[in-house]
Amino acid sequence: MNIATILDMAAEAFGDRVAVACGDSRYTYAELREAAYRAAAAIKASNAQYVALLDVTSPAAPIAIFAAAFAGVPYVPLNYRLTKPELNELIERVAPAYLITTPEYAKLLEPREGVQIVDREAFLSLPATDAPLPEIGDDPRAVAVQLFTSGTTGKPKAAILRHENLMSYIVGTVEFASAEEDDGIIVTVPPYHIAGISAVLSSTYACRRMVQLEGFEAKAWLAACREHKVSNAFLVPTMIQRIVEHLTEISEDANLPALRALAYGGGKMPLSTIQKAMSLLPHVDFTNAYGLTETSSTIAVLGPDDHRAAALSNDPAIRRRLGSVGKPGAVELEIRDDNGKVLGAEEAGLVFVRGPQVSGEYLQQGSQLDADGWFPTKDRGYLDAEGYLFLDGRSDDVIVRGGENISPGEIEDVLLSHPAVADAAVVAMPDEQWGEGVAAAIVLKPGASADVAELQELVKGKLRSSRVPQKIIFKDALPYNELGKILRRLIRQDFI
Ligand code: ATP
Repeated sequence: MNIATILDMAAEAFGDRVAVACGDSRYTYAELREAAYRAAAAIKASNAQYVALLDVTSPAAPIAIFAAAFAGVPYVPLNYRLTKPELNELIERVAPAYLITTPEYAKLLEPREGVQIVDREAFLSLPATDAPLPEIGDDPRAVAVQLFTSGTTGKPKAAILRHENLMSYIVGTVEFASAEEDDGIIVTVPPYHIAGISAVLSSTYACRRMVQLEGFEAKAWLAACREHKVSNAFLVPTMIQRIVEHLTEISEDANLPALRALAYGGGKMPLSTIQKAMSLLPHVDFTNAYGLTETSSTIAVLGPDDHRAAALSNDPAIRRRLGSVGKPGAVELEIRDDNGKVLGAEEAGLVFVRGPQVSGEYLQQGSQLDADGWFPTKDRGYLDAEGYLFLDGRSDDVIVRGGENISPGEIEDVLLSHPAVADAAVVAMPDEQWGEGVAAAIVLKPGASADVAELQELVKGKLRSSRVPQKIIFKDALPYNELGKILRRLIRQDFI
C-alpha cells in the first residue's frame, strides 16, 4: 500500500526494459529506481516535508513521484501556467519543500524560507549515495500526492491522495506487468494533472515504456507515435479534435499501425469528434475514461466493445451510449436529487461515488465524504437502465431560471448540430424577471453563417422554451484551459 512498491516491482520484474523515453534520454526500470533512490536520499537529507515539481513533462516527473514515496513525503506537482502571484500563493501552502524546477520557471518564484530550489538537471544527475536504501513506508494513510485541482470552477483546492487511494485505483484498474516488451504509451498530459500522475503509475504497474512529450501539437504527436511505435495513448478530447482536424486537412491516413488503444477523458467528448476519430483509426480500441482528481482518476469507463457496438448498432439505446462515460469500475456510483434521495434509471441528479480510491479530502477543508463514505462530485448526470452513466454538465454550471434547473449541455448539443456552428457554450446571465437567464457564445465555422434568430429557432424546435438562449453572441474562439476544459466563468463575463 505504498506507490513506491509499483516501481520496486517493475524494476525487479523487468529491470532492463525501457521505462521512460524523453527526447534522447532513456531510463530502464532499474535506472529509474536507482534515480528515485538517489533523489529520496537527497530529499531526506534536506529535511523537506514536501517534494514539489514545477516543470513540463520530463523524466524528472516519474523520478520525483517515486522519490517522494521512498522518502515518505507528499509529492506536489505545480501548474507552470499559473501567474506568479497564484504560484507563490500555492508554494506557501507546501513549505518546507524540495522544489525541482528549471531556470525558466525559477524566475517565477519568490525567495521563501524553507523552500530549497533544485535545478532539474542537477536533480537528474544526483550522485550515487552510500546512504542505505530507504525502507518503503507501510502506512497506507500517508499522503502520497497533494494535487491542486485545475480550478475550472473556482480557486484551486489542494486534493489529498493517500497511498491507499492511489494503490486501490491502480490495482483495481490496471493489470500488473500486462504490457508486451514493445508496448509504449505516449504521455502528453502535464505532470500537475491527475491524468499525468495516473499515467506514470499505470505505465509503471503495467511495465510499459512511457514516451514523454513536453506538450501537445497534433503533427508532433503523430510523428512521435510513429517514431516510437507507440501502442497506447491517453488524450483529452480537444487533443483528439486537433488530430482529427489535422488529418482531415492534409487528407492523409493516420498511418499509426502500432497504435492499438486510445483512451480519452478529462472533459466532454463531442459526438462528432469521436465518430470521426473512430473512422480515421478503425483498428484502434477507444476507451472513454471519466474521473476526478478527488477520486485518484478513473471511476467509469466506456470500453472498446461499447464504442464498436454504438457505432454499428441500429438500436438507438445502444447508439446513444457513445455519448456516455460507460459504467462505474472499482467504485459504487449513485445519482441523488438535491435532497439526497437516490434516483432511479433515467432520472438526472448529482453523481455520488464511494470506494477505496475516492479520497474526497482537501488540505485545510478536511474530508468531504458523508457519514457513509459517499463523495458528492460536482457532476450532474443520469444512469440508463443498463447502468451506463451519462453526464449532463457540472452543478456549478447549471442555470437556475426561476427555480428551474437548466443544464447547458443539452442546449449546446442542439446549437452544435447546426452545420455552421463550430463551437458553442451556454452560460447563465443575469435576468431581472427570472434571476438567471440563458445565454450562448457561438463560434462559426470559417466562411459559414448563421444568425441569432435562426439559432434560437433551432433550439425552440428541439427543447422547451425556457432553454432558448435569450442572448447569443458570436466569438472568434472560446476560452479553454490547456486540458481542454471550457472556462465558463470567463464566458459569463461577456453577458454581465
Ligand atoms: P476544479 O474542481 O478546481 O474546478 P476540475 O474539477 O476541473 O477542477 P479535475 O479533477 O481535473 O478538476 O476535473 C474533473 C472533472 O472533469 C469531472 O468532475 C468532470 O466534470 C470532468 N470529466 C473528467 N473526465 C470526463 C469525461 N470522460 N467526460 C466528461 N467529463 C469528464
